[in-house]
Amino acid sequence: MNDEVLLLEEKQAILAAIVASSDDAIISKTLDGMITSWNPAAERLFGYTEAEAVGRHISLIIPDDRLDEEKFIIGKVANGEKVDHFETIRRDKKGGSVMISLTVSPIRDRKGKIIGASKIARDIGLRLQADEKQARLAAIVDTSDDTILSKTLDGFITSWNKAAVRMFGYSEQEAIGKHISLIIPEERIDEEAYIIGEIKKGNKVDHFQTVRRHKQGGMIPISLSVSPIIDETGKIIGASKIARDVSAQQELYRQLRDLNAKKDEFIALASHELKTPLTSIGGYLQILAQRVTDEKTKGFVQKSRQQVAHLTGLVNDLLDVSKIEAGKMKFQEADLNIREVIDNVIDLIAHANPGHELNLETSVTAAMLKGDAHRIEQVLVNLLNNAIRYSPDSKQIIVFLSEQNEGIKVGVKDFGVGIVPEKLQDIFSRYYRIDDNNPNVSGLGIGLYLCYEIITGHGGKIWAESEPGNGSTFWFVLPAKEVD
Ligand code: ADP
Repeated sequence: MNDEVLLLEEKQAILAAIVASSDDAIISKTLDGMITSWNPAAERLFGYTEAEAVGRHISLIIPDDRLDEEKFIIGKVANGEKVDHFETIRRDKKGGSVMISLTVSPIRDRKGKIIGASKIARDIGLRLQADEKQARLAAIVDTSDDTILSKTLDGFITSWNKAAVRMFGYSEQEAIGKHISLIIPEERIDEEAYIIGEIKKGNKVDHFQTVRRHKQGGMIPISLSVSPIIDETGKIIGASKIARDVSAQQELYRQLRDLNAKKDEFIALASHELKTPLTSIGGYLQILAQRVTDEKTKGFVQKSRQQVAHLTGLVNDLLDVSKIEAGKMKFQEADLNIREVIDNVIDLIAHANPGHELNLETSVTAAMLKGDAHRIEQVLVNLLNNAIRYSPDSKQIIVFLSEQNEGIKVGVKDFGVGIVPEKLQDIFSRYYRIDDNNPNVSGLGIGLYLCYEIITGHGGKIWAESEPGNGSTFWFVLPAKEVD
């Protein structure tokens, strides 16, 4: 043995020791991917011993969806290039994912020919063993209060948690392997085809309200959320279902509906009962007004009549709400000239509200439409009264009338408190009031609801625009009458 050989052997021994004690996984392979060396760190990282790995193909640790990376890496190495800090995922012996940073360099023989590749892999990620991960998931699923089950695409049950046992009465052994129709009432069997159809397309089905059957035959109202189960290669292999019992929720809805119906009934009855005495008080006051001569008493009677008129207005509004709720609001259809209706209403309201100035801006002299003149007048009265009530500090109110392609457009503009944008829609709901809009203005939150019902009942639309602090404009459009 000459010195040179000794030196080479010594050098090799040192290198082997370095590789063996390295904290990084160091692997070498041939250009066609067969593993030729595997250090102890590789054993620790990937779980395979040296004996298990050497001689095998490198795809042993490459997830199926990343096999293309290998071609790219080998391509570079065969060209004499290095691949540096390539971040990727590899698979360990237990099937867990390992996040690594790879550095791959060509291995050359004495003549400089590239004969293989050396790989250094550094663990850069959190490493969850597949079984550890599974155990954790299983524990979550098992202790969940929601029913969680899974099934194959042809409907066979593959898992069934404790909550499913409680909800449907079947034990895990009784359920697994059975077809899901086990818990589907016959008349709802078609739902399954729909749900599976969506799952096959890769879609989720969310909050599907339905009914399922308990082992004892009882029906359970549930809300279902179903998602596809996708395997490593991206293929849809089944569906996972989460079911929530909604019977308590449904009972609550039923009670609310009943209560709501009772409230409507009460309002209808109460306003009807109030109407009769009010009418007679109004009648007597009218007679009194004619008989009293003393000026002071006359004034009192006049004030009483105004209050009775106000009260009658409120009671009539309530009666109208009841009519709408009962589907009994009917419109008398007749030809009408809306310009005339507007003129009359402006006169009436201006007379009763000397503190405000009402002006009509229009070039329209007559605009014909088909509708209930009394109800359309009611809309205008409500809008004008609101414009006055919600603009205590400014005098001016403008009414617009124009003919547009879409129909006849009317606007009522004030320069008062205005409405914040997020409430512009809500104000048309029944009993809705913006309390902090103007604490001094009383009301029931009915007027705009009636306007909405009347206008939409005529095939029109109504909306509001506003700049808080600078006033509001309420618009409505009604279809114009077709020329006969
Ligand atoms: P009410 O005025 O009796 O409360 P409405 O249904 O007529 O009921 O109106 C609902 C709510 O819309 C009112 O409480 C008020 O907050 C708001 N509102 C209506 N008209 C106007 C307006 N012209 N300017 C500002 N706010 C308005």
